[in-house]
Amino acid sequence: MVEGHGVHRVAQAHRRALVGKKFKASSPNGRFVDGARAIDDKALARVEAIGKNLFYFFDRGEGGRGGGSERHGHHVMHVHFGMSGRFSVHAASDPPAATPTTRLKLEGHGRVAMLSAMVVDLMDESGFEAKRVALGQDPLREDACADTLWEKFTASRKSVGLALMDQSMFAGVGNIYRAEILFKAGVHPEQPCRDLDRGVFDSLWRHSVELLQRGYSTGSILTVDPEEALVLGEPWTRRYVYNQSSCGRCGGKVLTWEMANRTVYCCGGSCQKLIESRSSGLCPAHLSAHPPLSIPVLGAFQLQLTPFNSTPTFARMERPSVANPSSGAGAKKRAAAKKVVREHVPFVSHCAPDSGATAASDPSKMTVKALREILAAGSDSEKAVVSASAKKPELVAAVAALLRAAKKEEEDGTSTVARSTPTKNTNTEMRVKVVVAKTSESPRTPTPGTRGLAMRSEVRSTHWSPYDPVGVVNAIP
Ligand SMILES: [Zn+2]
Repeated sequence: MVEGHGVHRVAQAHRRALVGKKFKASSPNGRFVDGARAIDDKALARVEAIGKNLFYFFDRGEGGRGGGSERHGHHVMHVHFGMSGRFSVHAASDPPAATPTTRLKLEGHGRVAMLSAMVVDLMDESGFEAKRVALGQDPLREDACADTLWEKFTASRKSVGLALMDQSMFAGVGNIYRAEILFKAGVHPEQPCRDLDRGVFDSLWRHSVELLQRGYSTGSILTVDPEEALVLGEPWTRRYVYNQSSCGRCGGKVLTWEMANRTVYCCGGSCQKLIESRSSGLCPAHLSAHPPLSIPVLGAFQLQLTPFNSTPTFARMERPSVANPSSGAGAKKRAAAKKVVREHVPFVSHCAPDSGATAASDPSKMTVKALREILAAGSDSEKAVVSASAKKPELVAAVAALLRAAKKEEEDGTSTVARSTPTKNTNTEMRVKVVVAKTSESPRTPTPGTRGLAMRSEVRSTHWSPYDPVGVVNAIP
């Protein structure tokens, strides 16, 4: 999912590349034919980003920029990328072919822009105003109002984890930022909004602003403060809890569960404790001497929790308030409230890639291809550890064992005698680093002298997708 910082970067790039110009518009896949006809040869007056939404204002009438808009208002093209999408600008001399998902093609001024997105709608300015009102406060916009959001927040019956993902409240925050904002503010995802005081809310808002601004300026979701990254070291140099197996601050396990069909992350140690609900008649723990309720650290890999268990407390908070728990509706609500809490097993994240050092030290963050390559390059005994049909968990375990053995040998060796020649264990580490570095290279990353770089220097191309590495985005803040 594209988060708000990426959408604002696209808006800024398109302000520089497209605003003030007219383009020939068409809809290659036929799903935006009327819209393309309406904006054909109309000047693009401005681009707005609100949360995860983009709005392109095209003059309606003749007379170009200014005169036309004053007399006739604007056509407003609304874009929402969805889980994946792109709005790329290319040199007209070498445009890419349209695909079945290309809804809009703009041509002119030596450029070709191609748009694929989940939502591409055309509306008038009253439609834009309605959208703007429905969307919440965007931490990256100057007109964002924390007081307005606080009123809605404190009246909400939602949990904070759901509120952060609610685009009518925090516009632009996605799943990765949710995990990190909650961690930095020390708030448990299941905590009801109405339990928090203004100070905690202000902390959530401040971290939202700071982290999205950092994402906007760097193009990456980097949430660990630079000075703390030096202290924590790998793998906590980029994210605190998102896709981590443990917490770098307290050492607790990172727990995950589903919240409205998205995975939510939380430190299961001491960093994000659930506090007693205000609805129980007690003050929140951080406002009184009442001790906070901690999330139990799970001893088992998986624990089935129902709202009628006595622990953990956040599952009980989901208890449905129905008169007859045996009714169909009650059973449905109980099923919805059922939580499966897991200790998180990291994966290879394309949206939030790890550093090379982290990937090389944690086999669970390596691709299957890299794991196989590491094992294949080893000795016959290492190759024999796993079968050709082995699944990722088996491969991860094999490479982890390899790394542990290499580390142990290294420690044993250096404690007795200094070595001047490469040994088996240093070779293992080198092999892992080389394979991870090689397999983590993105094929989309242009290298000096390639067509991609030459094209960008000619036309300030704004090639972008949520899966592109930072270097490809040409949105200069
Ligand atoms: Zn922690």
